[in-house]
Amino acid sequence: MSQPAFSRRVLLSAAAAAGAAISLPFGAESKESTTMDKKDMEGIRHYEFGNVTVTSISDGTRAQDPGLSLASKERIEELVRQSCQTPDTLEHYVNVFHIKSGRRSVVIDTGYGIGKGLALTRLFSEVKPTTITDVLITHCHPDHISGLTHNGEAAFPKAKVWVPKTDYEFFTGESVPEETRKATAEFFAPYEEAGHLKLIDKAETLFGDFSAEFHPGHTPGHAFFVLDTEQGEIVFAGDVAHVAAVQFADPTISARYDMDPKRAAAERIDLFTELAESTHLLAGGHLPFPGIGRVRKFGSGFEFLTLPYRDRL
Ligand SMILES: [Zn+2]
Ligand SMILES: [Zn+2]
Repeated sequence: MSQPAFSRRVLLSAAAAAGAAISLPFGAESKESTTMDKKDMEGIRHYEFGNVTVTSISDGTRAQDPGLSLASKERIEELVRQSCQTPDTLEHYVNVFHIKSGRRSVVIDTGYGIGKGLALTRLFSEVKPTTITDVLITHCHPDHISGLTHNGEAAFPKAKVWVPKTDYEFFTGESVPEETRKATAEFFAPYEEAGHLKLIDKAETLFGDFSAEFHPGHTPGHAFFVLDTEQGEIVFAGDVAHVAAVQFADPTISARYDMDPKRAAAERIDLFTELAESTHLLAGGHLPFPGIGRVRKFGSGFEFLTLPYRDRL
């Protein structure tokens, strides 16, 4: 795959932001801050693959708990040290992706939503919420679906929301506590009422160059979305890994959030092996920002190399 070109739009946006705070299209009744300054633009990156633009957007980071990994303290410390980090420097990332491809304007996972996360505020400084045509949800954990609504209304008023049927039914069903069931249903409710909820029940092409695959383990219906571009595939793999410093070096280690740790590890190993043998790109919800890059074999495991930053004049 040849090197992607980088869009200049981010610079134009930053220049605009330097002159004046950008107003966002949510009403004045919103209590949350709906303006952003120049610094906020640091959490947004654009990449072009032929006629497709992929934007990585940070929803904000937090301190990473290395104990999230299901391995001994000693093993985790060893792997963290090998990646030239310390437990104090580990960061927990939450990434949201926006893709412009032809007439489709697609968001993959939604972060924590306006007020709690930063991604949608950043995204809506560049695109109007009403122009988003589709939202793809890899799975139904709150850090992926909370942005679907804002003050109970659809945050993407015209979009179809695509979600794995197995995950939707699990997280709105009897197997989860009532609180989870209710909260999950509320995030999807405005879309269901509008007839915009699309439950994905088989691996297939969804629309255009987007297809869905199921890779359960992290959750029962965990999906990957594959975007086929002129320059190769990009696999949006949701929560395939949470602690990059540990799980690329040793993909057999699952995270506390993986509902079926063994199956999650098997899916992780399969994906990393496949990607390391190709030039396809990996994009993940919790990979180090910008959360998109390549996987290569390294030592007895793998390494994740984010796409290089380019800011050429
Ligand atoms: Zn998750
Ligand atoms: Zn997650």
